[in-house]
Amino acid sequence: MAYNNLNMLTVSKFTIKKMATCRECGADIYGRSDKLFCGDSCRNAFNNSKRSSSDRETARINRILCKNRNILESVINQGKKCCNRELLLSMGFNFNYATSFMIKEGGKIVVSCYNFCYVNSSNGRVYISQKNILK
Ligand SMILES: [Zn+2]
Repeated sequence: MAYNNLNMLTVSKFTIKKMATCRECGADIYGRSDKLFCGDSCRNAFNNSKRSSSDRETARINRILCKNRNILESVINQGKKCCNRELLLSMGFNFNYATSFMIKEGGKIVVSCYNFCYVNSSNGRVYISQKNILK
């Protein structure tokens, strides 16, 4: 009799009903009937995979540009107007991405990243300035 009671208890612990399977990993979901995913990581993975590859590429480039902009801003905020190219690279700067280019007289190329711009000099120095923001 005692054995049966124990068995019943054990069974009753597992009476939580399986409601669905996770749309990402296929795992059983227990509990609330409106749940579609077994957890946050599966929900995020599912939503990320739904985004088109061009959306993901645009987001990737935007992250690079924003990072570049923030690095330029941090150098300017340290009171510097120039630094070594290696310093920027070590901070994660990506010289392959910019928002615009302007070729000045004499062939000097001014590279813009949003409201910051820079000029690469032949001695490995990068001259940075903040653009005047139009009011
Ligand atoms: Zn899952």
